[in-house]
Amino acid sequence: MNRWQTPYGNATAGRRTRVVRLLIFLFSLLIVGLATANPVEPGKAPSRRILVLQSTQPGLPVTDAEQGALLKWLEEHGIRDDDIYLEHLDLNRFNSQEHRNNLLALLRHKFSNIAPDLIVTLSRGAYEFLSHEGRDFFPQVPVVANVGGGPNLATTDRPGVLIQEKLKVQKTIDTVMRLFPNTTRIVFVVGTNDNVSHTVQEMKSELGSMPPSPILEFTNDLSYEDMLARVATLPANTVVVYVVFWRDGTGRTFTPIEVANRVRKAANVPVFGLWDLHIKSGLLGGHAIDTAGTSRLVGKLATDHLEGRLDLFADKQIVTAVTGDIFNWEQMQSWGIKEKDLPSSATILNRPSAVWEKHQKETTAWALLVLFLTVALTSLLLERRGHRQTTRKLVQTTEALEREIRERNEKLQDVNRLLADQSFIDGLTTLANQRRLEETLTRECQRANRSGHALSLIMIDIDHFKSFNGTYGHVVGDQCLQSIGHLLADIAHRPADLVGRFGGDKFLLILPETSHRGAIAIAEAIHAALTNRGIAHRVSRTASHVTCSCGVLTTSAPPSRNRQELLALVDGQLCRAKKEGRNRFHASDLTNPAADDATDERMPVDERDFEECSLSTSDEPETAAPSEIPPAEEKKWRRQNSLAWLTPRRRNQRIA
Ligand code: GH3
Ligand code: MG
Repeated sequence: MNRWQTPYGNATAGRRTRVVRLLIFLFSLLIVGLATANPVEPGKAPSRRILVLQSTQPGLPVTDAEQGALLKWLEEHGIRDDDIYLEHLDLNRFNSQEHRNNLLALLRHKFSNIAPDLIVTLSRGAYEFLSHEGRDFFPQVPVVANVGGGPNLATTDRPGVLIQEKLKVQKTIDTVMRLFPNTTRIVFVVGTNDNVSHTVQEMKSELGSMPPSPILEFTNDLSYEDMLARVATLPANTVVVYVVFWRDGTGRTFTPIEVANRVRKAANVPVFGLWDLHIKSGLLGGHAIDTAGTSRLVGKLATDHLEGRLDLFADKQIVTAVTGDIFNWEQMQSWGIKEKDLPSSATILNRPSAVWEKHQKETTAWALLVLFLTVALTSLLLERRGHRQTTRKLVQTTEALEREIRERNEKLQDVNRLLADQSFIDGLTTLANQRRLEETLTRECQRANRSGHALSLIMIDIDHFKSFNGTYGHVVGDQCLQSIGHLLADIAHRPADLVGRFGGDKFLLILPETSHRGAIAIAEAIHAALTNRGIAHRVSRTASHVTCSCGVLTTSAPPSRNRQELLALVDGQLCRAKKEGRNRFHASDLTNPAADDATDERMPVDERDFEECSLSTSDEPETAAPSEIPPAEEKKWRRQNSLAWLTPRRRNQRIA
């Protein structure tokens, strides 16, 4: 990646955001779809009116179970709620002829303008009502009738199909003997109404073929209390089979399912049942009438007729109610019965269902929600990670840039430092230049004035250097200057010492905290070293080698002196050395005026400078300069090199 390119504009992050939005949109569609889904479109089904007659009152478990299963079936098969006319005749509680007549009048009134296409009766009483009182109530409308158990009904002209309950007690006895092989007595708990009596007769005849053991006992003659007392005190190896109990031996009526519960609680032995609802409410099990299954059968016969698959106007048919081996899980646990001991097709009620079965819809919804949230969360986390990576890359890039800028700054500072240094360095000798010498001298003057320490200066000028150049050329002259510069630097080697080229063939040594004696020693060392070096100078009028003249000055505060004064004084000493014959030094010790033979210190600086320095040109005629050096140029060099350190005012005065 280009380092100037930001890592933003991340296409992956954008794609992820779009995916999350799409998921949210699809999820919303799913929820809206589920909320508005309606499997049966209302108004599409043709009008098929069904009158449902129920002899019991609403709210009884058996009533609700029968109706619930039937209505569900009808709804699933496209019968609209508006076309179902449900009537509770409540014939068990109101069993008078007057009530029955009133019921019929009411029905006639209600259906004076509406004709049902089919009549369904869900109990024997309702069918009997329809056959007797309702004989002329839409006589040609067929009936699907669940007539329960009991004696055969009188035939009627009304077309239809009858569903009869066959208890198949023998199958329950077989199960009893398989589960409790030591059983010696079976007590059948039954009530006393007509239908039950018929049922008992039927059962007795069905069981007549059984061997003498176990003993069969029936409670239909007992009062309700005696019956409960009997089941509570049964001998060992006895089981109870609860048949049905509408009315006891004293004529009192009961709700069978409530009696089933009381019997189960009172009994000291297992209680089997013959109706699924009794088993569901707490009996152990048995081969029982499947109430819901039978109601679905009623519904199927009804819809088959309405849709033309079954012709109820043909011969009257009789079908048997649905039965099956039905058991109660909790009672099985109480009596230690294993599932494998039951008939293979047995249905087990009240089994604690897995969370998934119990709350299938809720679980699916929650699972979908969790899945959705997981996907959304994962996407968000991925996006966040992408952002973090981007941020990390940005930070890295920024750090790299900062590092580079820092490095460049450092290099720039180095260059600046070098440039600054170079502005303080003499290009030929690499010693300090005049600027640096002047700055250092200013500083050292101030220091000497403050501390009172001695400050010595030595100004050196090469003798007859112009003729050296003329003889040997400027290149050799430059080398000579470099050589003498190194020689001086070697001699003045204290850390505080500063050696520099003051201009032309003139050098200056600044020697802080150096006594006059020390300065003289250095001047002597310079002469000795130069003699020792022996740089040939064949046209010198002083010696056969290059020599120099030095001015030596030592000062200290008070009296304090500034830079210009000191330079003028030391140059004055140099001029005197030149004047006195060159290849020597002339010294002045301002710290000890009495010992100083250079009495000219009392002279004004300007006068002295002018007087002494002017000697060098007047009393020493130049050696004939080489022909290639023009006189005008030579004059210019002289002016530049000898007066460079003077202030403009002095230079002007001198020139004037
Ligand atoms: P004196 O003994 O009185 O000092 O005589 P001089 O010939 O040395 O006279 P002065 O010091 O006045 O002349 C300085 C000469 O130094 C002038 C010039 O020819 C020479 N010079 C100045 N700067 C340079 C330089 O950078 N390189 C070379 N080769 N020569 C220089
Ligand atoms: Mg000179």
